[in-house]
Amino acid sequence: MAGRTEREGDMADVEVNGRRYRVPERPAVVICFDGCDPAYIRRGLADGILPTIAGLRETGFAGEALAVLPSFTNPNNASIVTGVPPAVHGISGNYHLDRASGEERMITDAAMLRCGTILAAMAAAGVRTAAVTAKDKLRLMLARGLDGINFSAEKADRATLADNGIADVEAMVGRRRPDQYSADLSLFVLDAGLELLKRGAATLLYLSLSDFVQHAYAPGAHVADAFNRAVDDRIGRLIVLGATVGVVADHGMNDKSRAGGKPNVVYLEEELARRFGDGAVRVICPITDPFVRHHGALGSFVRVYLRKASDLAALMAASAELPGVELVLDGPAAATRFELPLDLEGDFVVLGDAGTVIGATAAEHDLSALAGHRLRSHGGLGEQRVPFIVSRKLDADYLTAKAGRLRNFDIFDAVLNGTA
Ligand SMILES: [Zn+2]
Repeated sequence: MAGRTEREGDMADVEVNGRRYRVPERPAVVICFDGCDPAYIRRGLADGILPTIAGLRETGFAGEALAVLPSFTNPNNASIVTGVPPAVHGISGNYHLDRASGEERMITDAAMLRCGTILAAMAAAGVRTAAVTAKDKLRLMLARGLDGINFSAEKADRATLADNGIADVEAMVGRRRPDQYSADLSLFVLDAGLELLKRGAATLLYLSLSDFVQHAYAPGAHVADAFNRAVDDRIGRLIVLGATVGVVADHGMNDKSRAGGKPNVVYLEEELARRFGDGAVRVICPITDPFVRHHGALGSFVRVYLRKASDLAALMAASAELPGVELVLDGPAAATRFELPLDLEGDFVVLGDAGTVIGATAAEHDLSALAGHRLRSHGGLGEQRVPFIVSRKLDADYLTAKAGRLRNFDIFDAVLNGTA
């Protein structure tokens, strides 16, 4: 529920999902630096390629926070814009099995978001608000109920005033819509944000990038360095324009390949079929999205649904014994531990360790799409830690209240409420 209330002085608050957010007095920008593992920041700082973030260690706040599990893009973006865990907002993956219909499908339907967003509530309170994403599917979800500017780099050429609150995005940014498999898809989002700020078109901005680069390139790789330097440069320019900038990631990223370069995969549905018979279970990989070239739909968190097999304890025990499996939880335990919606949970969940991904069957994962690079992916506990950076100092009281338990979905709170 959103509502506007007055507090002392002229300050106004907007209440969203039980948390109160100060209406921004100066421009506020939150960036979801998709797939930015803290290792990129550490390496970039050591190599001197992140001058803006390096400076923010002194003049702002540069720490780390925990992302939502499963450490995938959609659950975390939904948490960041709602300020609450998936148990409240209802988005616990990119892809799921609908128990009622038995259908497997993408979670792209904004209707699956079970609560309002900070963006929509701020816009309703009269704050000019913009949501810009790399991928259009994510925009549809994040822009739910938002009476403001919303568009994606992917479909920048198709933005219209009626549908997106803005037209001629390519002209505004000064270049054509980038390829969906490019670093520029993310830089276009940041450049669009810079233009919106310069034009005074928005006071509150959410800029959500793509993890295309991080899936293919490790910290220190030339392409990763060039990309991170370009993002750092744009963070600096947003600050120069007077914005308070907050940066978090939706998840980290780890190398999930063997020494020889082959992906380190546990094909769980096959393993359980071998032991319990064909058709024993169905394994759903909630990382699945249309951008398969990133990761071949392989991540470190899967949901398992019993089919012909019925001995849950035996299936869980057999899964836990597989090399590379870090954690196995039944559905209710997973929902409790990770604050996930119980009604969307599997019979059990299996998490791969930092070096391992879990798949269904070999036939379902197109590894040729990886185009020669080592598999880098996410989804498990090994990718839960993310950067948490704010361009202004956080109040001592605010940090004390958080006491080292920052979540990535505290970023709007930190930017709007936590700075002096
Ligand atoms: Zn992501």
